[in-house]
Amino acid sequence: MTYIYAVANQKGGVGKTTTAVNLSAYLALRGKRVLLVDMDAQANASSSLGIDREKVTCSSYDVLLGNVTAAKATLKNTKLNLAIIPSGPGLAAAEVELVGELAREYRLRQAIDTEAGKYEYILIDCPPSLGLLTVNALTSATGVLVPVQCEYLALEGLSQLTRIVQLVRQRLNPQLEIRGLVLTMYDARTALAHQVVAEVEKYFGNRVFATRIPRNVRLSEAPSYGQPILTYAPSSPGGTAYKALTDELVTQNEGAS
Ligand code: ATP
Ligand code: MG
Repeated sequence: MTYIYAVANQKGGVGKTTTAVNLSAYLALRGKRVLLVDMDAQANASSSLGIDREKVTCSSYDVLLGNVTAAKATLKNTKLNLAIIPSGPGLAAAEVELVGELAREYRLRQAIDTEAGKYEYILIDCPPSLGLLTVNALTSATGVLVPVQCEYLALEGLSQLTRIVQLVRQRLNPQLEIRGLVLTMYDARTALAHQVVAEVEKYFGNRVFATRIPRNVRLSEAPSYGQPILTYAPSSPGGTAYKALTDELVTQNEGAS
């Protein structure tokens, strides 16, 4: 089977892209066949892997609009053994352009269905909104990974996200589940972080990954070198944390099958 994860949270800057990029890289390091789909017009996932968005000729936008196949838009990072469908100019307009289209919520799903057999993991980096791009990702996915920043008001918005996931499950994609919450930018020294963790665990129980991602400057530097943490600073706290998160996810998946 192919695990397809939408990495989503409508709150901005919580670590969606960092999580999508680094999980993808560590999954690939484990020998998994991985596709990362950049569904954000900001193109942060693409640039984090050294892809110059200005030079992208076929992007997730073209895939959504049906201009090209997903295979045609896929780039290969041979060093990381990672496939990526980059974002590109135009994606910001896709939400509007798709409105009049037939089956607009299923565009991404139809496009990646043809690819699913090639990959064991497909990760979709979502924009910070619950608009049509995120709905396309949720409609395509088997599960949602929700990065949650350990800060005040972290739970605000999670109920809205949960509601959208429920709606998509009822109407568009019955297999969708919240696969897991990833606590990011965790600082064990602060009382606030402990409070946030306690709150999130109260609501989401064992759907919260045990691995917590610490706040680590290496994680924020790596994108400007076009590298994931596993090549930039693998032994940093951020590197070991994302490796541990990958191991946790894979162990859960393989134990369950
Ligand atoms: P957006 O909503 O804009 O897409 P996002 O949810 O994808 O944001 P990221 O881009 O992953 O969030 O992270 C926001 C910023 O925080 C980035 O500059 C990133 O490098 C930094 N960052 C993410 N995780 C960490 C961490 N654990 N420690 C330190 N910095 C981090
Ligand atoms: Mg992002």
